[in-house]
Amino acid sequence: MLIVILAITVVSYLFDQILDYINLKSQRTDIPKAIEAFYEKEKYLKSLAYHRELAKFSFITSAFSFLLSFIMLIGGGFGWIDGWLRPFFESEILLALAFFGVLMLASDILTIPFQWYSTFVIEEKYGFNKTTLKTFITDKLKGYLLAAIVGGSLLSALIYLIQTIGPNFWIWFSVLTAIFVLFINMFYTSLILPLFNKLTVLPDGELKTAIENFSKRVNFPLDSIFIIDGSKRSKKANAFFSGIGKKKKIVLYDTLIENHTTDELVAVLAHEVGHFKKKHIIWGYILSILQIVFTLFVLSRMMYAENVSLALGGSQLAIHLNLLAFGILFSPISGITGLFMKMYSRKNEFEADAYAKETFDGTALSNALKRLSVDSLSDLYPHPLYVFFHYSHPPLLQRLAALSGLSAP
Ligand SMILES: [Zn+2]
Repeated sequence: MLIVILAITVVSYLFDQILDYINLKSQRTDIPKAIEAFYEKEKYLKSLAYHRELAKFSFITSAFSFLLSFIMLIGGGFGWIDGWLRPFFESEILLALAFFGVLMLASDILTIPFQWYSTFVIEEKYGFNKTTLKTFITDKLKGYLLAAIVGGSLLSALIYLIQTIGPNFWIWFSVLTAIFVLFINMFYTSLILPLFNKLTVLPDGELKTAIENFSKRVNFPLDSIFIIDGSKRSKKANAFFSGIGKKKKIVLYDTLIENHTTDELVAVLAHEVGHFKKKHIIWGYILSILQIVFTLFVLSRMMYAENVSLALGGSQLAIHLNLLAFGILFSPISGITGLFMKMYSRKNEFEADAYAKETFDGTALSNALKRLSVDSLSDLYPHPLYVFFHYSHPPLLQRLAALSGLSAP
């Protein structure tokens, strides 16, 4: 069993490294025609340097975390932590909470230097970073608190069901997670986002009128429009909407509003509305629930196997050791389902683009996409294999080609 777990860890590590390498090698120094007007040569060369630096950095961080997991696995480190914590806890639930709490805290603390370097050295060097040390620290603390509350209660419920219901726990826990995912979807903007960002209502003016007019014309149930202070952390921009049913909230990053014309902003929103109109949101929800149900079912088949716990160095069957091992053993399968989700998502992006073109303005959307891509120094020539495995959105040049009708997606 341990050999299978180690083999999966090694193969997936090597696979990722090879993909990263191929992708880095596909960099090109010429600026594509479609985007020439938006790029100065110097800035483009800077974007190439940015990607080289990101790749080098990811090479180091992944080697570090690979070595760490490899040593923990081969040395029975997880079993050792289990044996160390066991005497302190009577209840299996508290033991599991402590086990995952220790693991997560330890791995986060070990990687803080990397997170710090990424934000304050790399992102800073290329002019993206706006995070202060204070925001960095408070984000960490809030993140821990949120993980403890949300992750802690889900984990407790899972272990309670595993203990009390037996192998059929997956049915009950599926229902619970489905409700949980729905709840997060409904209250993300009003409950979770305000913990990290300030949301303000978009003031009356040209932009608001333009968005309202568009929503009315296409029958989009718009409830409210917010601006979020994304500039608190980074210059990178974004937009999305949330809410289920008849109350849609649109959220625009202040960084997006700053750099785009009203037409471009409405075009970006038209794209988001396209996801709603083409039922991508509801299907995305259904597909992720199905994925969770399938995962839980497979989990239920190996939850009670003692040899899994022993493989991680445990001295007896422990639910949390089996959960951890499952996370690794299942990763090739979740990798494959994830691949299908990404293919589906890329198809949806083309459809949402097409919707924006039909109902609003394809040129405005093209310009917005170009500007977004240039401002975030995104990769213009990602390797097709890398796109296939990692991209949830099609690369810029493909989207532009589809928008201008040169080639079908
Ligand atoms: Zn989209």
